[in-house]
Amino acid sequence: MAGTRKPVVEVRRSQRRRRTVSAYRDGERVVVLIPDQFSRAEESEWVDRMLARLAAREARLARSDAELLARATRLIGLYLPEHMSAAAPASVRWVTNQNGRWGSCTPADRTIRISHRIQDMPDWVIDYVLLHELAHLIVPSHNAEFWSLVARYPRSERARGYLEGVAATAAVP
Ligand SMILES: [Zn+2]
Repeated sequence: MAGTRKPVVEVRRSQRRRRTVSAYRDGERVVVLIPDQFSRAEESEWVDRMLARLAAREARLARSDAELLARATRLIGLYLPEHMSAAAPASVRWVTNQNGRWGSCTPADRTIRISHRIQDMPDWVIDYVLLHELAHLIVPSHNAEFWSLVARYPRSERARGYLEGVAATAAVP
């Protein structure tokens, strides 16, 4: 779930700011910009408020198709950089009608569908499922070339184990 991990907060005071407060994520940190004249009490009140706002915003974004596409683009850049255009999907969507599959892709129209059942799984598992489908846009079948692309993702083995575990548990009545 998004927003459960407590982030490292960096507060920056600005003399130019009067009443406006803003916050953004910078890697693992959250930067909160506050007016210089804020008291310590105001600072801590606003940090809490902005963290809550940011978490709410990220939770909304975390479930969106737009986030999924952004995630796909990042994964292609990291693991399939020489296939930048071949691996670029026409669309990536969360779907709820996919039984028994974590993800699927149609190379003909370059669409990818990801099951909502993995939405609450760790990021690194979602990344694996997505990278697996992106690799299918380059190599449709599960051959050696396909698995060598997928193996570029360092947690492939672990993610497959995780998903097998979930599937096995779900199959138990
Ligand atoms: Zn596959």
